[in-house]
Amino acid sequence: MSPSPSSPSSPSGGDQATAAEEDVAAAGGGCEHAQDSPSGGDGCACDEFRMYAFKVRACTRGRGHDWTSCPFAHAGEKARRRDPRLFRYSGSACQEYRREGSCPRGDACGFAHGVFECWLHPDRYRTMPCRDGRACCRKVCFFAHSPASSAFPVK
Ligand SMILES: [Zn+2]
Ligand SMILES: [Zn+2]
Ligand SMILES: [Zn+2]
Repeated sequence: MSPSPSSPSSPSGGDQATAAEEDVAAAGGGCEHAQDSPSGGDGCACDEFRMYAFKVRACTRGRGHDWTSCPFAHAGEKARRRDPRLFRYSGSACQEYRREGSCPRGDACGFAHGVFECWLHPDRYRTMPCRDGRACCRKVCFFAHSPASSAFPVK
């Protein structure tokens, strides 16, 4: 009696894992830092920064620099924003502020004052596709450049 070695039937083929073709080049996914900031470090231009710190945090660079290209808030600056996490306001524009350029409710107002508060509001920021798409070269763009980086429904 000799035991015959049973050869287990091994399934062959059909198990190939195909590497998913990923769009690795995520445009704008990184955290680019402002090149012209002399101190460096704090000029982060990522989405988090734009929504919660851009023109919200007080500038520490003092006077004598270009306010419009500086991402921080300055005393008396119109573009100054309220932190959406600390102040409860919606992404809809305040009608008084729109008409008069100021609002009697001030910081307690439940609506957005100015384009920055409006478009950098977490409810609105990057919810609409950018007209210029990937070709956009705005320093701070409020709109989405690719479906992946936005919240708007894409089919
Ligand atoms: Zn500044
Ligand atoms: Zn208002
Ligand atoms: Zn854009």
